[in-house]
Amino acid sequence: MLNKFGENLEKNLAATLSGALRKQKYHLVGNHSAVKRCKWLYESIVNDRPCYKQRFYGIKSHRCIQMTPSLFYCTQECLFCWRAQSGDLEVTWDEMKIPKANSPEEIVEGCFKAQEKILTGYKGNPKTNWRKFQEALNPKQVAISLTGEPTLYDQLGDLIQLFSRRGLTTFLVSNGTLTSKLSNLSKEPTQLYISVCAPNEEVYKQVCRPILPKAWVKLNETLDFLQSFRCPTVVRTTLVKEHNMDHLDQYAKLVEKANPTYVEAKAYMHIGFSNLRLSFECMPTHKEVLDFAAQLAEKTGYKIIDEAPESRVVLLSRLEKPIQVGNS
Ligand code: SF4
Ligand code: SF4
Repeated sequence: MLNKFGENLEKNLAATLSGALRKQKYHLVGNHSAVKRCKWLYESIVNDRPCYKQRFYGIKSHRCIQMTPSLFYCTQECLFCWRAQSGDLEVTWDEMKIPKANSPEEIVEGCFKAQEKILTGYKGNPKTNWRKFQEALNPKQVAISLTGEPTLYDQLGDLIQLFSRRGLTTFLVSNGTLTSKLSNLSKEPTQLYISVCAPNEEVYKQVCRPILPKAWVKLNETLDFLQSFRCPTVVRTTLVKEHNMDHLDQYAKLVEKANPTYVEAKAYMHIGFSNLRLSFECMPTHKEVLDFAAQLAEKTGYKIIDEAPESRVVLLSRLEKPIQVGNS
């Protein structure tokens, strides 16, 4: 028997799904948002190993909140997504409609509280770096990226504005299918990521499984106007072996069209709910990601300017070095 989500997510969330999410260490915020401890927050505070975005762009992993304003909502159902999708665990809902939206103020407050709760866990760890722990209590970066499509949240620009007023840099990750929402953002993020995980429409339909009609056309429209953003932009490709790592010429055309500040080629990671859809073998090795990036570089004129083997990610740009946007 399938359940339907109603208006209040917290109230109607099926026990299976909320239980599974809590097991995966999600902290639910209001009706449609969540914060999750990023692995690299832990690694930075306990083992002094920051994430690749600290290395590339200068943000601080230990001061970063990983959140989403659209936990269960998206215009795509990508095979590689770690998000719970309608149909997973035999629960279905309307994935393109955020019910009973919270205000940006409620979301920001909820995120800070959730992050504080996450950090409490570090007090008992003898390996905690206390300087970093103290700094972490005052977050300086938010990754609006955890899962879901953030542009489905109508007040996204105000949310970015509010985080920014609280002194945080904002990295926004979008699948680019809600073009007008992106072009009408009332406030730009510090850095904008657009996911491009297919070289053409056919692969897009197989791998990204859009729910929104004409999603491929919309994504291409977004790529067309990406250069109009003042902030640094990133075309991000999540690479899944045997699924979307061919047709480099077509990928190159998309990159040339968007002319982003960076391209991040990154391996699919076999985690979260993606385990229900893809096998462990679908994760490319770092060398395979590097080969993909090298071919793309050759075809676009972008250069490989950095890489992080531990995250299987390669950074390409026309710049010699990435712009440092971290504010602490
Ligand atoms: S920028 Fe991303 S990877 Fe780095 S700490 Fe924040 S959420 Fe984690
Ligand atoms: S666009 Fe992102 S959130 Fe949406 S299904 Fe794909 S990976 Fe998941």
